[in-house]
Amino acid sequence: MSLLTLDIGRCVRTTNKFSTCEKCVEVCPVETIKISEHLPSFVPNDCVGCGGCLAACPDAAFKLDTFSPLNYIFSFLEKKSVVASCKEEIPCLAALSTEEILSLSLLSETPVVFDKAHCAECSIAKPNVALIEERIEEVNFLLEAMEVEKSVRFESVELSVEEEKVENDRRAFFAKASIKEAAKAKQVFENKVEALSEELKEHTASVEDIQSIRAKVVPDRRKLLQMAMKRAGVPTQFHNIDANDISFVSQKMIDEESCTNCQMCYRICPTGALSSDKYGGFIDFDAINCIKCQSCHDVCEPDSITIKNVFSLEQLFKPKREQLIKFSVKRCDECGMPFVYRGGEIMCDRCRVEEEEAHALWGIKQ
Ligand code: SF4
Ligand code: SF4
Ligand code: SF4
Repeated sequence: MSLLTLDIGRCVRTTNKFSTCEKCVEVCPVETIKISEHLPSFVPNDCVGCGGCLAACPDAAFKLDTFSPLNYIFSFLEKKSVVASCKEEIPCLAALSTEEILSLSLLSETPVVFDKAHCAECSIAKPNVALIEERIEEVNFLLEAMEVEKSVRFESVELSVEEEKVENDRRAFFAKASIKEAAKAKQVFENKVEALSEELKEHTASVEDIQSIRAKVVPDRRKLLQMAMKRAGVPTQFHNIDANDISFVSQKMIDEESCTNCQMCYRICPTGALSSDKYGGFIDFDAINCIKCQSCHDVCEPDSITIKNVFSLEQLFKPKREQLIKFSVKRCDECGMPFVYRGGEIMCDRCRVEEEEAHALWGIKQ
């Protein structure tokens, strides 16, 4: 038994009513995650606890009480393990994101093997196996591009007799884990059973959630990757790769002609990858903080912000802030506040709108 929770403050849909993100919906093998009233919802009791949504969400908004990807990685490294198997400490190999598999392989002293032996009989192999294969392929491509002589293999590993005895049923696996837990803390177990509702769990954002979004936090997995990159060492040359070949980070461009400096993209960016100053005089970009959540693209009405066709791996090894666009700033003749000057205007947008409204109210022709 495993309890899935969603930190709605981390879902990009919470701040962006134009967000089209459905990554959690797309990967859920039992189709319990749905978008309702613009936010993800699910029936806790239908969740099989595979952790696929944990890995798929760009902002790591989902959590399982029985599994933490980062704890798993640290435990794997500490034990100097070689094989990652769903029979040991991880509910399904699809619970690790590309970024996490990459960090794991960079930090591991030996090549990592993902055990495929149990996939054939697994009820959620479709779609999870395809996801695992896709992520491993991306990781191996990136390792090669980083000149790291390591790779991740996805193959069947011979089991010991003891491991063979492990119950195949996923729910029994989690029930077993919970009984163990219950022996230690009965109350915790009972609370958990109570929380496993059969009702659709709808989410609404509270004031605290909104505050947590404003905090602009980069998911822990990105911090882990940065640490792993440092350990791996800088390659002899920084390769430029096709932007489609990397799923978790991007580089951006802004079209100077069409951008209206509406400020929406950097206001909704959940990690602060896009930023500006208090006057909105420029838009800066830190690729290392970008989680490719698509939110800035979804919100940009004139489609001024786009992904560069190539991604430079230098951005992962030697992150550098880039200025995407600079605006001229002038003081408003009316209120004295600085505003972005595009040519010819004498007042800020707010004063202009107020003046237009006053003219309309009094029937003054302009
Ligand atoms: S941001 Fe995460 S939780 Fe929100 S819709 Fe996308 S994948 Fe789902
Ligand atoms: S890039 Fe788009 S969203 Fe960002 S300020 Fe310009 S117009 Fe607005
Ligand atoms: S810059 Fe990156 S992290 Fe920020 S909103 Fe755009 S895609 Fe998401």
